Amino acid sequence: MDTLKRLTERIWFSDADERTDRPVLGYILGDRASLMVDAGNSREHAAMLIDEVHAQGLSYPKYVAITHWHWDHCFGMCGIDAVSVASRETNLKLKEMMSWEWTDTAMAKRIETGEDILFCDEIIRKEYQDRSKIEIRTADVVFDERVEIDLGGVTCILLKLPNSHSEDSVIVHVPEEKVVFLGDITSEDLHHGTGRHYIEKLGMLIEALEWLDFEIALHGHDEPRSKEYVLGYLREDLELLG
Ligand SMILES: [Zn+2]
Repeated sequence: MDTLKRLTERIWFSDADERTDRPVLGYILGDRASLMVDAGNSREHAAMLIDEVHAQGLSYPKYVAITHWHWDHCFGMCGIDAVSVASRETNLKLKEMMSWEWTDTAMAKRIETGEDILFCDEIIRKEYQDRSKIEIRTADVVFDERVEIDLGGVTCILLKLPNSHSEDSVIVHVPEEKVVFLGDITSEDLHHGTGRHYIEKLGMLIEALEWLDFEIALHGHDEPRSKEYVLGYLREDLELLG
């Protein structure tokens, strides 16, 4: 089975792998350039997608769009020779993480202070036998609310939306293909002890997604889903909060 699966005429993706929390990666092919969605959790994860891009005769991505700062989505940035694009808030977190040390002591300290969570700590240790290999980069291009990247015949719109999971989160909307990459934007807040949604933010996210023109949504840790499916479970979550 191919690691890189075709979703639409211009979009491919690789599945999430929960063993080391590797998220879905996306690939969008334009007439002039291509874009990768999320960089993955390590050089190896990024390389897996790039190898498959080569194997299928597709063009090397010119851009890589980062959906949010969580390690599994951005630690692969150092493994891709592409222009990286991220929201200002994501980039601030990337800058902050560049100063993080990966010794047992430093990692334990961050769990204590709430800078990081145990779940990530455990899985980072699984993905990285040698944590000195962790190399965090900041983005080449930074935007505030929205940026549009024209790949030739297809457009990627990176858009920040209110959400519970992580303030800096952006979606990557590909209107011509009616596809949206959600990153983890529809997930709960796993980083602040609550593990839940916030009623107001979730309400705004649902409204934004209702307006957005798409048929297929790709969450960072799920298989492709229909718009109805995604809105269905979000409305259920909202009701539970109400
Ligand atoms: Zn996340």
